[in-house]
Amino acid sequence: MRLSKMLFVTLRDDPADAEIPSHKLLVRAGYIRRIGSGVYAYLPLMWRVLQKVSLIVREEMNATGALECLFPQIQPAELWKESGRWDTYTKAEGIMFSLTDRREQQLALGPTHEEVITTVARDTIRSYRQLPVHLYQIQTKFRDEIRPRFGLMRGREFIMKDGYSFHADEESLKETYQDMYQAYSNMLRRCGLEFRPVEADSGAIGGSGSTEFMVLAEAGEDEVLYTEDGKYSANVEKAISSAPDAEPSSFTNCEKIETPKTETIEKVCKTLKCSPTQVVKNVLYQAVYDNGTIVLVLVNIRGDQDVNEVKLYNELTKLASTYKANAVLALEVPNPEAQEKWAAKSLPLGYIAPDIGDDYIKASKEVNSKFLRFVDKTAVDLKNFVTGANESGFHVVGANWGEQFKLPDLAVDIRTAKIGDRAVHDPAQTLKSARGIEVGHIFQLGSKYSQAMGATYTTEQGKDKPLEMGCYGVGVSRMAQAAVEQSYDKDGIIWPLAIAPYHAIVTIPNIKDAQQVEVAEKLYQELNQAGIETLLDDRTERAGAKFKDADLIGIPYRIVTGRAIKEGKVEVVERKSSDSYEIVIDEVVSTLNKKIKDEL
Ligand code: ATP
Ligand code: MG
Repeated sequence: MRLSKMLFVTLRDDPADAEIPSHKLLVRAGYIRRIGSGVYAYLPLMWRVLQKVSLIVREEMNATGALECLFPQIQPAELWKESGRWDTYTKAEGIMFSLTDRREQQLALGPTHEEVITTVARDTIRSYRQLPVHLYQIQTKFRDEIRPRFGLMRGREFIMKDGYSFHADEESLKETYQDMYQAYSNMLRRCGLEFRPVEADSGAIGGSGSTEFMVLAEAGEDEVLYTEDGKYSANVEKAISSAPDAEPSSFTNCEKIETPKTETIEKVCKTLKCSPTQVVKNVLYQAVYDNGTIVLVLVNIRGDQDVNEVKLYNELTKLASTYKANAVLALEVPNPEAQEKWAAKSLPLGYIAPDIGDDYIKASKEVNSKFLRFVDKTAVDLKNFVTGANESGFHVVGANWGEQFKLPDLAVDIRTAKIGDRAVHDPAQTLKSARGIEVGHIFQLGSKYSQAMGATYTTEQGKDKPLEMGCYGVGVSRMAQAAVEQSYDKDGIIWPLAIAPYHAIVTIPNIKDAQQVEVAEKLYQELNQAGIETLLDDRTERAGAKFKDADLIGIPYRIVTGRAIKEGKVEVVERKSSDSYEIVIDEVVSTLNKKIKDEL
């Protein structure tokens, strides 16, 4: 392609809304244009990158026997009501764009396709003989993200490959999951990305497990905890660890002590000259279930530890049926306004004890009359601990479970693992932390959707059973930008060869020099004919500006038809290493061909 004909526009300045390098560079280099919040136009160079990423994804998927197809983006509300996700997706999380059509039918723009595919499976899968089967698509997804940002990283419209597999049993599901693990690793490696598979939160669906593929980069929105022996890595949402040992308590007598103005752990510890590891902190949450029921939740946790809200959310989801509900719509620390709705009297905030009475709750049709009480495992073993006294300005010291306070029945791991914690598999290993961009997520779903939507098959023994299901997503557009986030310098993008929009660019320093033009045109033709995707910078710009642009857009090889052509040579500059050398004109095609073949 000739730059003169390409709507080639680069910007000198960073766009005001761009916070991270890859976003700035993709806009400046003319790859993308913002159309609205989280909505981008993919310009010709970007589209080539996206097609290359898609092709790699497609090849790796096809190699596993998965079948490509295309599902509708407009999805009827009924399907989402059948699976029980309509309210969570349109109201609670609010991540789904929904609309009402002229026939007064509710519809949604697909953020994901479990409902659609399960409907297809219900209609088409009859017998174990048809299993396993794996369908996938590459398509634009819509999600009304709370905070669209970072360009293509978190868009409201983005390209995803999503695949769904169906199985007769868990064993078969696990096999496909392993295949996907391998396929995802291959895709990312082939796209030139440095990544790490990590254990991920699977929500409350089941213990069957899920893996996220993280591209390691400072700009990542996720935190990954890992050990250097390579045996453990997990998203912080899911990570487990051993907390540091608690310091032994010096309070041997149980008594109530006046501790004015000590609403925080830090202040209590200063006043009582004790360690946060000797304190039982009592954290109040309010959960709202999808049937409108409000449940007040009290978590007892060691003073130096923090509640992991994803783990708490999962525990609450497991208990949904106790409250005649299906899902948790919201989980938050109740603010004063929220407290007004259910507090029977003023709460001893900052001084709550594990045994705070249920009479603090003004029960109603909506509000459950009892605190749901959890104790985190870090608080279970504490002896002679410090905790609130249910009275403003007072704490209890030297308290024990089974004496002053009843240990809650629900003792669970509900804490946030932290950098520096000891690893569970080997206490000699401590957890390290890194930032990651989640580019892929593979998931053993089990029978959640097939059960809810009645997708069954007949076993060899003639019995009806719900289908076992897996799902696998990779963010094609996010991955393309993540590649830039991992590979750039002060001058611009440095594309990995496999997903660069073009392999080479022939730059004519002086368009008025007939010989330069002639050599460039010849090379441009020959390179393209040889399958080396090549651009020609035939614009009337100054040479310096052309070199700058070539660096900015990040094409791996630049060929300059400059002074050396008098000696029958051209200059070749490699974008990544900045190496430059002269090659005899007739050898350009064969040299580049070899280099590119070797690298791909
Ligand atoms: P995140 O935690 O980043 O919001 P997610 O867990 O909601 O992502 P999945 O539902 O697992 O994402 O979707 C599969 C893949 O789609 C993700 O791994 C990611 O690469 C991509 N993806 C998800 N949301 C977006 C988005 N808003 N913009 C671009 N890509 C996205
Ligand atoms: Mg995910």
